[in-house]
Amino acid sequence: MSASEADRLADNATIEAVAERCIREAGDDLACAYLLADKFIEGRKNQIWVRRKARDKFIAATMERIGDAHPFKGKSKFYRYISVDGESLLNIGIYADGRRSNPHNYPEDKVRNALRRAGAEAEVRKKEGAIRAVETRARRREKLIHEIAEGILAQRKYGPRSFCCICKKILSDPQSIERGIGPECWDHILVLIEHQKDREARVASA
Ligand SMILES: [Zn+2]
Repeated sequence: MSASEADRLADNATIEAVAERCIREAGDDLACAYLLADKFIEGRKNQIWVRRKARDKFIAATMERIGDAHPFKGKSKFYRYISVDGESLLNIGIYADGRRSNPHNYPEDKVRNALRRAGAEAEVRKKEGAIRAVETRARRREKLIHEIAEGILAQRKYGPRSFCCICKKILSDPQSIERGIGPECWDHILVLIEHQKDREARVASA
């Protein structure tokens, strides 16, 4: 075995362990598994690989859960092909009443397994869509907080208003209304402003 191959194997074992750990700690929450994957692997390559591993585990668990039930919750669904374990099954599908369409006469258990896999993948994809939406919202909010912190330092005014200009929550106390920023978002702004002031003080004293 070459040195680089040994390195690669060691690396794979580490990553496998990381994947196992974040899946175990996440319970049945895919978003949590992804967060842990990012945390454990931070700054290293293979982050995507660990996420993919977590995704595979969730698909397997979902297939398990689907069992013999209709994987598309009573809706009909047809595929040009489904690939499972390197094998492609063509034109299979399932009717709303649960009958399977299998014009090429593949073995029944293979068709059932392929449809179960497709159903599980659809379910996990839906979850991933929700996760991405949350991540995008968090990024946007982060950006907005930075912009508004800079605005405040430049004496710009964001109030009075009845909704928080960052998270759009209804504002109730007079101070928040006057400011145009709710208490939670204001805390974030204050932290940023403190950082900025520290930086300026350091620059001034240098
Ligand atoms: Zn807010």
